Amino acid sequence: MLFISHPDCELHDMGTEHPESPLRIDAIKKLLETSTINEKIKYLEAPLVDKAHLYRVHENEYVDAVFSNAPTEGILRLDPDTSMNPHSLNAARRASGAVVHAVDLIIATSTESAFCCVRPPGHHAERGRAMGFCIFNNVAVGAAHALNTHGLSRVAIVDFDVHHGNGTEDIFQDNPAIMLCSSFQHPFYPNSGATTKSDHIINLPLPAGTDGHAFRNAVEMNFLPALESFQPELIMFSAGFDAHKDDPLASFMLEEDDYRWITNEVKKIAGKHADGRIISVLEGGYDLTALGNSALAHLEALV
Ligand SMILES: [Zn+2]
Repeated sequence: MLFISHPDCELHDMGTEHPESPLRIDAIKKLLETSTINEKIKYLEAPLVDKAHLYRVHENEYVDAVFSNAPTEGILRLDPDTSMNPHSLNAARRASGAVVHAVDLIIATSTESAFCCVRPPGHHAERGRAMGFCIFNNVAVGAAHALNTHGLSRVAIVDFDVHHGNGTEDIFQDNPAIMLCSSFQHPFYPNSGATTKSDHIINLPLPAGTDGHAFRNAVEMNFLPALESFQPELIMFSAGFDAHKDDPLASFMLEEDDYRWITNEVKKIAGKHADGRIISVLEGGYDLTALGNSALAHLEALV
């Protein structure tokens, strides 16, 4: 398995009180390095993404504005929850660059899986705006690269973050080559997704308090049959771990084993249709201990 990250991702900082903290990367890396799967992992540095890759999923004006307005000192606020410091542009470019790099390596080599341990996260970023801690939609940039550069015709994105993947839906709502499966707490931020009707956008709104049993049942009934009939050539995870019972931002009750379970279920489908190819991209997860343990369970299943 490939593990792709970059020190720049830890320099993006939205303030000491902000839950989307640089410590999140370390919480995962430290556990992984002392785990039994460490010897099966190849650590790589993420390159900076080019504008051309970002233009595929974001409005040119938006991308150009982020680049040209990026602060050289102080803080620039992009939305009520999202800001940039002088390191944020490079961090955001590394975050998307990691996924593009993962797509190139997974498609060109016999490596089956990659984890992009990056921040800022991406799944709330829409075509034309930053939102909810996200600047560029990293998973979408990678999926578009798989279609446009590598000629794939079906890519599935499984988003198990506790928040709806509104940005990914916004970007791919008219593109049936991408299937998005997003499970999320509803009603809850960002208050989208519950009314979507589309064959290739499989939204799964679930109430506050949803535990592992209810989550697994809902995934079994909704995501797995949809993925099976879509026959994806590549599967990507928007891997947010904020549905964990200890997460301070949301009210789901998932545990480490639930992440292991969904990873294994999706892996079976990838094995059948996608030559086992899976690229996982970090999204949310704000309790550092729960984040580390959940990501480790996900990666143990992925390896
Ligand atoms: Zn989230």
